[in-house]
Amino acid sequence: MNYISTRNASLKVSGAEAIVGGIAPDGGLYVPEVIPEVTAKEREALAEMDYPARAAFIIGKYLPELKDELLSWCEKAYSRFDGDPAPLVKIEDNFYLLELWHGPTHAFKDMALTLLPYLLTGSKRVLKRTDRTLILVATSGDTGKAALEGFRDVDGTDCIVFYPSGGVSELQQLQMQTQKGGNVYVSAIEGNFDDAQSAVKKIFTDDSVRNNLASLGYNLSSANSINWGRLVPQIAYYFSAYADLVSSGEIEDGDKVAFSVPTGNFGNILACYYAMRMGLPVERLVCASNDNNVLTDFFDTGIYDVHREFYKTISPSMDILVSSNFERLLFEVSGRDDELTARRMNELKENGKYVVSDGELAKLSELFFADYASDEITKETIGGFFEDTGYILDPHSAVAVSAADAYVGSDEIPIVTVCTASPYKFVGSVLEAIGESVPKSAIKALVKLENETALPLPESLKELETLEKRFTGVVGRDGIEGVVMKYAKERA
Ligand SMILES: *Cc1c(COP(=O)(O)O)cnc(C)c1O
Repeated sequence: MNYISTRNASLKVSGAEAIVGGIAPDGGLYVPEVIPEVTAKEREALAEMDYPARAAFIIGKYLPELKDELLSWCEKAYSRFDGDPAPLVKIEDNFYLLELWHGPTHAFKDMALTLLPYLLTGSKRVLKRTDRTLILVATSGDTGKAALEGFRDVDGTDCIVFYPSGGVSELQQLQMQTQKGGNVYVSAIEGNFDDAQSAVKKIFTDDSVRNNLASLGYNLSSANSINWGRLVPQIAYYFSAYADLVSSGEIEDGDKVAFSVPTGNFGNILACYYAMRMGLPVERLVCASNDNNVLTDFFDTGIYDVHREFYKTISPSMDILVSSNFERLLFEVSGRDDELTARRMNELKENGKYVVSDGELAKLSELFFADYASDEITKETIGGFFEDTGYILDPHSAVAVSAADAYVGSDEIPIVTVCTASPYKFVGSVLEAIGESVPKSAIKALVKLENETALPLPESLKELETLEKRFTGVVGRDGIEGVVMKYAKERA
């Protein structure tokens, strides 16, 4: 199977090349030339499989060159989870939660980033590449830690992470600052996530940086969801959730369901879109945002406009105005028009804005429902849900529950809300939301939340305060290149 760039459909590479490269040389994103199908019979067979087998089956459709090893990689990656990697929780009839935060770093990024190192090193073997791979990550908080944990001490790889200074939760920052491993580096960067992401993207398309790194034996790649290898494992859990609904008798195979997804960089919800295109019976995709509601406005008006205030919210992993993966959706909805997509992305870069046609907007409106929740509504949702059901949501998941409520109205359609983080990662906001005071010490706060909710507190979060802080530096926006070159030179 070939992959093409969203900005140049005649540029074709294999899946292995797409994963090793991360982003296309023209700045576009790789998409499969043909979207593979899952037949009704195959879908039914998934119900009999465990999670690693389901994931290997779905991923194998996209990466046939890695097929032989996929199952053993999925088994290894998902053995790092605490029990079922993607359990479905029934709250009431037609209302379900898909918990994706049982991995080593307690956010859904683990679903892909425990597996990506296998996909990457396997792809390098297929391509007979012996250079070191330098993974550059811009993170709004969760990707960074998950990438560091995934690539830690993996042969032939290094991982450097940049997170917005003051833009992540205290626990997220502690997780990254205390990261162990001999092939990792972390730095805060001045500015917000969009600044970090665009500075990292700039390095990817800068030939002189690439050449300098190549002379030191390094090839650049990405663990952000711009990398197809990061996105494809995420398609699997939508099929898995559906299979669980069928096998528990909640729905019959073929029934349509809706998914509500807390959205930032548009990777998670885009994976749901691809699942639908592959044949998963999806009625609607609910795109849930926080106050940084550029996507809600887009789905209302067809205008993507980043000229607006940037808010720091209590769901910081979604504090994003330039959603990278939206480019892939735009490419699809334009009828795979690479020139038009390139032009729009250029407009976005130059003027911070682009507009889609009425026809495109009408198509999108049939598929997507968009809504957003302010911090106040998010907290009310956490508090109300806890009171009504005893279930404690993290702020990101609560944003999606709020949007799911807005969508469902009086409808009878089953809806699955995707839960993306453990409430412990955002312990301060969660305690406030359930009307509790917040102890100053992070550990005391964690223990308090455990006492209030009876949700088991993960050991790896509890021990954070006792670990050495290895990475406490901050660089300016123009400092990324310097950090990367210094790291590479020291190791070369
Ligand atoms: C990354 C993240 C999101 C947003 O996911 P995207 O794929 O970037 O849209 C939502 N919630 C949490 C907890 C996250 O870490």
